[in-house]
Amino acid sequence: RREAHLAKAHEGCHTVDGTRIEVFANLGRPGDAAAAAAQGAEGCGLLRSEFLFLERATEPSEAEQADQYQRIAEGLKGRPLVIRTLDVGGDKPLAYMPLPREENPVLGLRGVRVSLRHPDMLRTQLRAILRVKPEGVCRVLVPMVTSAHELRAVRVMLEEERRAMGVSTPVALGAMIEVPVAAMLSDRLAEEADFLSIGTNDLTQYGLAMDRGNPHVAAQLDGLHPGLLRLVARTVEGARKHERPVAVCGGIASDSRAAPLLIGLGVNELSVSPAVIPGLKAFIRTLSMSQCAEVARKALELESGDEVRALVTSTWPGL
Ligand code: PEP
Ligand code: MG
Repeated sequence: RREAHLAKAHEGCHTVDGTRIEVFANLGRPGDAAAAAAQGAEGCGLLRSEFLFLERATEPSEAEQADQYQRIAEGLKGRPLVIRTLDVGGDKPLAYMPLPREENPVLGLRGVRVSLRHPDMLRTQLRAILRVKPEGVCRVLVPMVTSAHELRAVRVMLEEERRAMGVSTPVALGAMIEVPVAAMLSDRLAEEADFLSIGTNDLTQYGLAMDRGNPHVAAQLDGLHPGLLRLVARTVEGARKHERPVAVCGGIASDSRAAPLLIGLGVNELSVSPAVIPGLKAFIRTLSMSQCAEVARKALELESGDEVRALVTSTWPGL
């Protein structure tokens, strides 16, 4: 069956009633891009750029970063590459960037908050991204956004660097939705962003107030909690006001029990582990959008992730 799925994996994917769903790959190492494309990835929806920055004594130069991004873009053979700007905090310290010791780093300086305190480092990364050829193949994704002003600040830097470098093609800028207030403010963020991408790993952590690394709450850390699905619904609603596409790049997008709900809530793109792409595309081709929407509507009214899963498996037996 896997062979049959692979044969069709390179075609675009629609539900039986014609809704286009894009399937992208999450990447965290340069070597994986070609393999992801071979699995049928339509692009990379999340490049975790931390691999370039962690476990080294000095900051990667603009040229070194550009070189790595270029290699990944080439592995993807012209498909879009969404590069997330550096997402570090006190829990992932960098030798060359002093960060304060924090009692609770997960609620402290992380993601874009760090970048805006170290704008030179952010500008270097943006210039490296702008160097990738062909122009326009890369998109920039900003992690841990909690307000439109953070996104505007990154946009200003991106545009200044672009003009200074004489790059004529604009670069799409997206906001990660991984903090509940970002989901609630998605209409404001969508005004500033070209696309939104929901990071359900952190959205689950911050939405449920459960540390994603804490084994004592691991069993309750459930991305299908109806409260979280409501945040996804709210994000799509806000994005639609400005006709912006919404992706999900958190781990839940790779879960076939979650995919029909995300699709039913109006998510346009799933960015997943490369290995699941052929099977996920094959599954999406069996789904009806109207049924997904109906089941998703019901899921929003349930009480727990377990109830949501029971609803999904009773609708699509075999999942
Ligand atoms: C997320 O939070 O869902 C996400 C995709 O980012 P990371 O897992 O790298 O925090
Ligand atoms: Mg995250």
